[in-house]
Amino acid sequence: MSALNSDKVPTSEDPKTESNLAVEDAIREATNDRVRIVLLSIVKESSVARDLVSKELLVQQKEDSASRNPKKRKRYEICKQCSKEYAVEQNHEKICVHHPGAKQLDFNSGFWKFVKNDDQIKDDEESQEGYEWTCCHERGNAVGCTTSEHSPQEIKHTKLKFYDE
Ligand SMILES: [Zn+2]
Ligand SMILES: [Zn+2]
Repeated sequence: MSALNSDKVPTSEDPKTESNLAVEDAIREATNDRVRIVLLSIVKESSVARDLVSKELLVQQKEDSASRNPKKRKRYEICKQCSKEYAVEQNHEKICVHHPGAKQLDFNSGFWKFVKNDDQIKDDEESQEGYEWTCCHERGNAVGCTTSEHSPQEIKHTKLKFYDE
């Protein structure tokens, strides 16, 4: 197999050395914020790292691919309809199963009959019988009634602990 056919990033070291395993453990055990902070500082320092991260997290915009400096967009988005992460290159009109309506409390269902105060009303796994969707009137945990493309959520940049302060 030629190197061109492999997607793997070539590494100069044996991946199983003790210090490499320690680094991998440290990444797995770090908080999400810590990993973001480390990655942000690595791409500031190294153009090689920046290219690698760009390959993982960005794709060329389709409508722009013929121009000389094609714009790039994020490779993964969060869908505002089903709340799942999706790859923008694999989006199609039957992939997103969701409810276009809103989930609301259903006091006619009898589920809340013995509830004495509002504190006991919680939208959790056990209480989905007490909710209904406005789109299809199915129970709260029913599988989505509509299929469509995923639709990207507007994402606000979250403040990173120890970084943006
Ligand atoms: Zn529905
Ligand atoms: Zn979706």
